[in-house]
Amino acid sequence: MDVQAIRQQFPALDRQVKGHPLVYFDNAATTQKPQVVIDALVDYYSNYNANVHRGIHTLAEEATAAFEASRNAAQQFINAASREEIIFTRGTTEGINLVAYTWGRQNIKAGDEIIITEMEHHSNIVPWQMLCEEKGAVLKMIPQQNGELLLDEYKKLLSSKTKLVSVVHVSNALGTVNPVEEIIRLAHQAGALVMIDGAQSTVHLDIDVQAMDCDFFAFSSHKVYGPTGIGVLYGKKHLLEAMPPFQGGGEMIKEVTLQKTTYADLPYKFEAGTPNIGDAAVLKAALEFVNKIGKEKIRNHENELLAYATEQLVQLPGLRIIGTAANKVSVASFVIDKVHPQDVGILLDNRGIAVRTGHHCAQPLMHCYGIPGTIRASFAMYNTKEEVDKLIEGLHKALKMLL
Ligand code: PLP
Repeated sequence: MDVQAIRQQFPALDRQVKGHPLVYFDNAATTQKPQVVIDALVDYYSNYNANVHRGIHTLAEEATAAFEASRNAAQQFINAASREEIIFTRGTTEGINLVAYTWGRQNIKAGDEIIITEMEHHSNIVPWQMLCEEKGAVLKMIPQQNGELLLDEYKKLLSSKTKLVSVVHVSNALGTVNPVEEIIRLAHQAGALVMIDGAQSTVHLDIDVQAMDCDFFAFSSHKVYGPTGIGVLYGKKHLLEAMPPFQGGGEMIKEVTLQKTTYADLPYKFEAGTPNIGDAAVLKAALEFVNKIGKEKIRNHENELLAYATEQLVQLPGLRIIGTAANKVSVASFVIDKVHPQDVGILLDNRGIAVRTGHHCAQPLMHCYGIPGTIRASFAMYNTKEEVDKLIEGLHKALKMLL
């Protein structure tokens, strides 16, 4: 993989931060955008900005075609069986909330159980907590140890009361790739549905929702080199068809009278109001960009960076890697004795190095480890070993100042 050629396609990587070339290691939070994505967005607003589905004029047809072409691209990207199973959302958070609000309210009753894991992002905890509170249902957590889910404990949690298992595919805080196929198989055996939080996995792993056999899968465009404000919820067609709408308004109706409304077919039943047309239209460019380079090549490069970084990180005095699962993506999460992650983050930023510090929206997981947060460096296709060297040097300098 020609990393230098890839870097040239990301204008943000050219900038200086505090007098230093930017080293961007906050990719798990959001990725930088390639020029093709930026150009596509400018092209949309410059040339064919119009509302979708309603107009018969040329601009409306062009906007609708681009919007729907992105739906097809997303369908292919995760190998959904049909384009009707692809619902545009604001992102992973909205996808999970949509399922909790619609499927959850329709199907969860007092005494039912929902299982999540100890390593969930808050967006895969809070919607289920809200639902359980409303319905008198029970939320259970699969425990983890050293970044790996304890599947034997999961088996003990499963019962005929389990209605849904909602699991993060790849942990944003640890990088762990969870054995979702096994988790799904066991849940289905118990008669429960499974939602997968694909916010972190979609950019690194080959996603095949049919092979995985998940019932729902959500991801965010901005973590896959696409724009913010757009994401995808996948659901099996028969489930989506049986679910009530999320929001009411334009676009999601077949016919409205003052007495009664009938709802639009999938996927529009779940897309009330004018959608985020520009960002949706551009999602295709981002997914094509990733496909063209190839996820396997990207993954190999990122894994090499992770191994290179980990090797050097563990040599730093007092440094402890948090999450040492055998199957990980390119996330190095760590703490250092006697220093606060935030202080390290500030000192690294002074050298142009962007890392994430804090609880990574995974406070229950941080509680498991008895820490307030970690320092997280997460690598993407455009990062280099030289940048990792800068991180290590920056950490040495920071520790000299702080200790
Ligand atoms: N789930 C995981 C694992 C995440 O890492 C994130 C974002 O960091 C989310 C869900 C929420 O994604 P978004 O904020 O794009 O809705």
